[in-house]
Amino acid sequence: MLRFKNLGSGSAGNATLVEAHCGHQVSRLLIDCGLSVRELGKRLAQAELGLEDIDAVFITHEHADHVGHAKSFALRTGAAVWMSRGTALACDLVNWGLSPMQFQVARDGQAIAVGALQLHPFTVPHDAREPLQLRCTDGDVHLGVLTDLGHGSSHVVKALQQCNALLLECNHDPELLANSSYPGFLKKRIAGPQGHLSNEESALLTRALVHPQLNLIVAAHLSERNNRPDLAQAELALAAGCTARDIEVADPELGTPWYQVH
Ligand SMILES: [Zn+2]
Ligand SMILES: [Zn+2]
Repeated sequence: MLRFKNLGSGSAGNATLVEAHCGHQVSRLLIDCGLSVRELGKRLAQAELGLEDIDAVFITHEHADHVGHAKSFALRTGAAVWMSRGTALACDLVNWGLSPMQFQVARDGQAIAVGALQLHPFTVPHDAREPLQLRCTDGDVHLGVLTDLGHGSSHVVKALQQCNALLLECNHDPELLANSSYPGFLKKRIAGPQGHLSNEESALLTRALVHPQLNLIVAAHLSERNNRPDLAQAELALAAGCTARDIEVADPELGTPWYQVH
């Protein structure tokens, strides 16, 4: 059994919990740690879990909304920390004071086992040193986790074939972004090929990933200023051939309920 729960999504801090059950074995992975340890503890408590229940954390890249509190979390819990070597260099991991063996190097195309959970990292186009996103599986069903990328490259499309569920970035509406008060350089960065997915770009990617067993799409990493849930839902629904109500949206603060992947 594979399930997941987003604990917060967007520029204020990202964290997603993925859990696999295999017989009596339960394995839990935290993807990104952009929430303070205190806040993370509170949100885990709402799911009747504690910090000590997390087996490992996977950091997708060095931007503060993803790695911001990972050091405190790792020092506090002793959990294994997975990230690419480029991300480790960019966030100065060597000076975090982790215990030996706690840091584990993740690489594009190399599978990782976290107990009953298997992770398949893949490279994405984003303006970070060596960003990786993930496909997670319990060996039976597959979850694609994909935020922070400028466009859906063919590598990304290949890595996420046959997913049963997707947590997918819908960062901005191009018109809202163009008319926002953001400075020009920032608008250009966000909309660029190494920035973030617009609703349209996310829909385009969805079209390439749709298959009969894809039955859950959760829109994530929505900009609070440059997007609206209804705009993201409408675009993704059109691409997936469902109604807007069928598209779930991760709340920036509250995240999502648990979703079982099937
Ligand atoms: Zn981000
Ligand atoms: Zn980023």
